[in-house]
Amino acid sequence: MKDLKKACQRVFDRVSKEKIRGELASYIPPLKKVDRNYFAVSLITVEGEEFHFGDYQERFSIQSISKLFVLAKLMSFVKDKSLWKRVGREPSGMAFNSLVQLEMEKGIPRNPFINSGALVTTDMLLTNLGKERALQNILDFIFASSGKHVRVNKEIAKAEQQTGFRNLSMAYLMKSFCNIESEVSDLFELYCNHCAISMSTQDLARASLIFANGGKNLKGDAILLPRQVKRINSILQTCGAYDDAGEIAYRVGLPVKSGVGGGVLAIFPRRFAVTVWSPPLNEHGTSVKGMKFLELLTTELGESVF
Ligand code: GLU
Repeated sequence: MKDLKKACQRVFDRVSKEKIRGELASYIPPLKKVDRNYFAVSLITVEGEEFHFGDYQERFSIQSISKLFVLAKLMSFVKDKSLWKRVGREPSGMAFNSLVQLEMEKGIPRNPFINSGALVTTDMLLTNLGKERALQNILDFIFASSGKHVRVNKEIAKAEQQTGFRNLSMAYLMKSFCNIESEVSDLFELYCNHCAISMSTQDLARASLIFANGGKNLKGDAILLPRQVKRINSILQTCGAYDDAGEIAYRVGLPVKSGVGGGVLAIFPRRFAVTVWSPPLNEHGTSVKGMKFLELLTTELGESVF
């Protein structure tokens, strides 16, 4: 691989100069108050080298990226069978908050990265760990992966709890199909709290290294098994960016997870994890600059998973 740091710097400089298109998420009110000019990149290699650019220490709302840690935590202790009978592993081809398929497919969400699927994985954490311990377990999982204590932004969690009507509808619809076990109010509180975890691109790159490094963190501790990581990365590749997943596979060629806070994380298995943050989003809820950066990076390196 060509000199990674130089390639990142060149692409960062180029994308920094581009005019920012896109809109900030507005359905969770505090997210639209964020300065649209933030731009940060962090990359960490499996050898432990790190490169950071721009506003990489500034914390942002990871939103849907938390679904990755929820799934990973869940896979670390529940049986595959009990998980995959309640949620699928196929791309939805629909918006992250769509209700249409859910009704037709009898309350079984297509995958764990759309909102309905993450509500099911969150429900499983809640029923297995209990109300008091579930959120702390997600935070502890991030700590074990990254070595960094992270926190929930309570203002953002509360705002989503007050405005997340579509997510509530999904939870009740799935409950009517007996695919939600907990109280919807408890489930929604936990869901909004993990979506409101605040991290910098630096924290997030360190936490996601396990997905590039066969399940091991920077210290070499095994947080997940290689076979679990293989499966998580496959689902990220096909489902990590909702109805933008095909376009991203075409343009970037890496497993990616996006969030409406403007964060994007990409995994190059056995090489590196890279995180980008820029708040303006395209119509699918993916960071415009984040995507541009990742596309140019794999093009510049001449390598991807394909
Ligand atoms: N908390 C957000 C929601 O449920 C997450 C969506 C995202 O980041 O894509 O609407």
